[in-house]
Amino acid sequence: MSDQNPLFIPGPTNIPDRLRNAMHIQTRDHRAPDFVETFAPVLEDTKKVFGTTAGTVITFPASGTGGWEAAVCNTLSPGDKVLVARYGMFSHRWIDLCERHGLDVQIIECPWGAGAPADRFESALSADSGHEIKAVLVTHNETATGVKSDIAAVRAAMDAASHPAMLFVDCVSSLASMPFEMDAWGVDIAVSGSQKGFMLATGMAILGVSPKALDAMQTAKLPRTFFDFRDMMGANASGGFPYTPPLQLIYGMRESLKMLFEEGLDNVYARHHRLAEGVRRAVGAWGLELVAKSPDLYSDTVSAIYVPDGFDSNALTDQAFNQYGVSFGIGLGEMNGRAFRIGHLGSLTDVMVLSGLATIEMAMADLDYGVELGSGVAAAQEYLRAGNSASVKSA
Ligand code: PLP
Repeated sequence: MSDQNPLFIPGPTNIPDRLRNAMHIQTRDHRAPDFVETFAPVLEDTKKVFGTTAGTVITFPASGTGGWEAAVCNTLSPGDKVLVARYGMFSHRWIDLCERHGLDVQIIECPWGAGAPADRFESALSADSGHEIKAVLVTHNETATGVKSDIAAVRAAMDAASHPAMLFVDCVSSLASMPFEMDAWGVDIAVSGSQKGFMLATGMAILGVSPKALDAMQTAKLPRTFFDFRDMMGANASGGFPYTPPLQLIYGMRESLKMLFEEGLDNVYARHHRLAEGVRRAVGAWGLELVAKSPDLYSDTVSAIYVPDGFDSNALTDQAFNQYGVSFGIGLGEMNGRAFRIGHLGSLTDVMVLSGLATIEMAMADLDYGVELGSGVAAAQEYLRAGNSASVKSA
């Protein structure tokens, strides 16, 4: 496996040299005055990526899973009811985490490939006249199926039911790659991580927390120590950390925010959309199908693609890795063996994406998929060459 080859897994993503260099620093004293100067602006600037002015940004040394746990244990009490739809591996894992924390989880089962069912949320919330449901949990971008859900529609459903539950959103594989509007969508906690749209190493769980969630924190009884918002916010108020911070990642985050703002968030989103559309054109030319059930659900950060009947998607990803040294995402959970995934997020250009498409085409040809070499690449080229202006300076 060559370091020169880009990754096409949907995170962790390729780390651009600029960010590797930013993280390549000697240890510094996190209790020295200059830590404050570095860290406080990082928290402040991250708000722009979440789309919040009212919220507070809180980060822990953890991955996204730690962010899920922090969201739940800071705002809820044992036995509290939460409402969640299961439509992929990550919504499934968040449900599992809630159950293991002793929450009463009301699950709406959906087919994998569907998105968050706003109408079914509305019915469930309208039926809950005693307001026992304390939070609605939604995965914005289901990385296992390549499905993006409409968070504004979920908020509208909650409002239509006049329900006071909090809205928690997993944006681990969408933040900093796809538009996210925490305030406008009325999100109470948004959970993300450093290793996807921020293009950094794994190790920072990054949360946006609304004033309403902070109120809930005052009475929440689930146990927490490491993930206690109160300790973290108390230390952050004077620019510090309640324990040893992941210093190199914080320096990386500072540079990542600079990169995102230099490109412009709208351009970042437009680049992701264009690259994703290029991949989708290739999938169409191969005659394959996306797991996402309809175009409104198509994710701009990852495409999950069914292999034809009789083929094993694990053999395909193995072939790409073993023969060509390139990683693609395997099918997760129900999709294992049935679908593979192309991650197209973070530090990626048109040229890199075309190389990925060429590689997976070779692997498919090796395994007798009956796909014509060059067909997907040509479809993507045809699309990408038309709208190329913003892409060259990106990533
Ligand atoms: N949520 C989503 C949508 C994810 O894609 C992932 C990881 O890929 C997670 C949560 C879990 O994050 P982590 O693996 O960083 O703990």
